[in-house]
Amino acid sequence: MAVKDIMDALKSKDLSEVGIKENLAQLVKDIKLVGEDLDVVLYLPKPGLESLIRDKVHEALSGVPEVKKINIRFSESPPPKQEFPSGQPAFTRRPVPGVRHLIAIGSGKGGVGKSTVATNLALALRNLGYKVGLLDADIYGPSVPTLMGIKGERVTVSERNKLVPIEKFGIKVLSIGLMLPSEDTPVIWRGPMLMKALTQFLFDTEWGELDYLVLDLPPGTGDVQLTLAQNVEISGAVVVTTPQDVALADVRKATSMFREVNVPVLGVIENMAYFTCPDTGKKYYIFGKGKVAEFAVTYNLKILGSIPVDPELSERSDRGEPVVVTHPDSEVARAFMGIAKMIAQNLG
Ligand code: ADP
Repeated sequence: MAVKDIMDALKSKDLSEVGIKENLAQLVKDIKLVGEDLDVVLYLPKPGLESLIRDKVHEALSGVPEVKKINIRFSESPPPKQEFPSGQPAFTRRPVPGVRHLIAIGSGKGGVGKSTVATNLALALRNLGYKVGLLDADIYGPSVPTLMGIKGERVTVSERNKLVPIEKFGIKVLSIGLMLPSEDTPVIWRGPMLMKALTQFLFDTEWGELDYLVLDLPPGTGDVQLTLAQNVEISGAVVVTTPQDVALADVRKATSMFREVNVPVLGVIENMAYFTCPDTGKKYYIFGKGKVAEFAVTYNLKILGSIPVDPELSERSDRGEPVVVTHPDSEVARAFMGIAKMIAQNLG
């Protein structure tokens, strides 16, 4: 089920009886489907047509069983012409120039290790010989500068008026955390301003030629994830979860969101999968065993790898020492290398 099917259904209805030549799809300014709920913003071409348009939308979508709830809002300004060449959805996905593969790392909830995974995965891809960038899109909790040991550094602007990412451990890194006056400055951007910043991070940055740009998304299924997924060409998403029920419940939603906006989900990474006792070598499945596998089967997802709980990973991360670089022989680093290989194989 894709938004395209919904747009096709909307195309079938017009308002010719009240002298409007556009079909419903051509009135769409914004549209998103989350689970079974559809949110749509429509241009109101004439005052007083609200209920007629509402009825027509419901009629048009009555044959689309995946949509259970329709939330319609109206806007008085028409959709921008150039983005709507032939009643297409408002989002035409743009590739990031010079970037071969954009990989989005998402999670259902915070604290499952998404940023740790994104950072080490980017470095693991670089260890495989690829040119790699890492973009921290977790605007409200940017932790990549800490993880990469570049907390005090600040990005500069090039002669071409583009952002210059910081280079560390052989990869290019950009994060809002590298632009704020100080670490404690709160980010209060919302909606359009936030999207403008992210668009700039992607398109107005000297990324150069990259094989992989790894995007650390904010947790959950909010506007940032949806807007990015709808506007930027993403090769694939990777979802990170721990085996805890609370994390799994939310990662289901994240997976569905990517699929609904037609972003292929490359697979799931199980973080904090088990703990290996250093004295005996015995594995303890602290948060339960087999739950992520069960989820992967239900959602037809590949498990890209399982990463153990490692207290040293946490300490080293806080010190800005990514294990893939500083302790390449550790169990955790080897797990990240395995995941990177799988992703590279997958994307070619
Ligand atoms: P998120 O980006 O999902 O919010 P983080 O990557 O910031 O999560 O990780 C949250 C905390 O968990 C950090 O302190 C991190 O060092 C720690 N952590 C992540 N993965 C592991 C792991 N496999 N073993 C031990 N600690 C981990």
